[in-house]
This record gives sequence, C-alpha cells and structure tokens, in this order.
Amino acid sequence: MTFDAAGLHPVMLRNIELSRYQVPTPIQKYCIPTIKQGKDLIAIAQTGSGKTAAYLIPIIDKLMGKARKLCAPRPNPATYRVGIDPPCRAEPLVVVVCPSRELAVQIFNEARKFCYRSMLRPCVAYGGGPVRDQIDQLQKGCDILIASPGRLIDFIERPDVLTLKRLMYMVVDEADEMLHADWEEEFKKIMTGGGSTEQEDGQVKYMFFSATFPKQIRDLAKTYLMENHVRI
Ligand code: AMP
Repeated sequence: MTFDAAGLHPVMLRNIELSRYQVPTPIQKYCIPTIKQGKDLIAIAQTGSGKTAAYLIPIIDKLMGKARKLCAPRPNPATYRVGIDPPCRAEPLVVVVCPSRELAVQIFNEARKFCYRSMLRPCVAYGGGPVRDQIDQLQKGCDILIASPGRLIDFIERPDVLTLKRLMYMVVDEADEMLHADWEEEFKKIMTGGGSTEQEDGQVKYMFFSATFPKQIRDLAKTYLMENHVRI
C-alpha cells in the first residue's frame, strides 16, 4: 500500500507530502486501513516505527471530511480575549493519552502537521506545564487533545474546562509505560471520561499502542476493546 492508494482526503495527502513521508512504514500499512474501517485495535509498536502517524493519519483523515459539522464549539477568533469572553468548554473528538511531556509535545507537533489546512484544532496538556495557559488553549476550541494521564484527569474533573461527551477516538500511546501503582483507577477514570461520555457502547473507538504486551495491557484490552478488535 502507498499513501496515494489508501483512499485519503486530498488535504491529508498534501500534508503527508509536506511532511516528506514518501512511503508508509509497516505499522502504517496495517493501521491506516484498519482504523479507516472503524475497528478498535491493539498494536505492538516501538518508538521510531512511525506509530504516531499510523493512528493520527487515519483518524484526522476521517474527521477532515466532516470537520465543518463536527468541529468543537469555539469562540470567535476575531473578538476572543482570554478572561473577557465567556469560556468555551473543550469537547474534543479525539484524546491521545501518553506517559510523558516530551512524547505529548512530539505527538502534538505531528498532529499539527496533519491538521494543516483543515478546521481541526489540536491541543496539548501535560503535568508540570502551566495549568492556566493550557486551559486557555483548550477554551479556544479543541478537537484533538494530546495529554498525560494526571493532567487529563485533572481537566476531566473540571466540567467547565473539558468534557468527553463528543469523544469518537481514544488512543493510549506507550500504554506499558503507564503501568504504575494507581494505573487501573486512573485508566478507569480516563476511559469512562469521568462519567462525561454520553456515547453508546461501540461508538468510541479505542486504540492501544504498546512496546510490550504484559498481562495488564492484555486485561485492559479485554475490558475496553470491541470483541472484533484487530491485533497488529
Ligand atoms: P514515531 O515512531 O511515531 O515516534 O516516529 C518516528 C519518526 O519517524 C518521526 O520523526 C516521524 O516523523 C518519522 N516518520 C513517521 N512515518 C514516516 C514515514 N512514513 N516516512 C518517513 N518518516 C516517517
């Protein structure tokens, strides 16, 4: 499969070209069609394999065609002034959870490239970063949120800042790096959107990317992924 043969939106093909990606990596060859078909998936993928683009390209591509209808409510950029206009709660369509600030910023930069010339707006939130600035960014409108688990839970627990009720895709990247003492409780909170997800079963597509496949990840997959999920 080439990028041209993957049935992608012309804007996405142009963004891939601008990124200077000529041929898809093996993980991209498998993930792009699987995600485009709307399947849940679990992929064993190392950093450096092109895994970020493997999920960002098909997800952003899917949303691109419908962006006008789907895009999050956002304030008028011509008149918006932080602290003066009424805040606009973030209602992302995609959440990517990852273990570190560095990875979050890296994924955010990839997302920006693939969202270029679309109406979709990516945002990033991580622990240790300035909370107020991150909230301001979210309240300017957020369609794709890349976040570390702690900060994501913090924002989910502030219903005026973030709700996951319009969520369509949940990606957990480097899942095995997030397995620590409280991970089960944290995951539950994130995956159920703190109770703010109004989607019916099967409407949110779940994807796990992990370098290894320990029992905790297998259990997680069993709990959250659809029965017909694909393993890559
Ligand atoms: P990742 O595994 O997602 O961390 O990606 C590793 C690096 O490979 C990043 O710098 C990407 O920009 C780059 N990359 C991803 N996919 C491709 C591709 N199809 N062709 C060339 N470079 C790529």
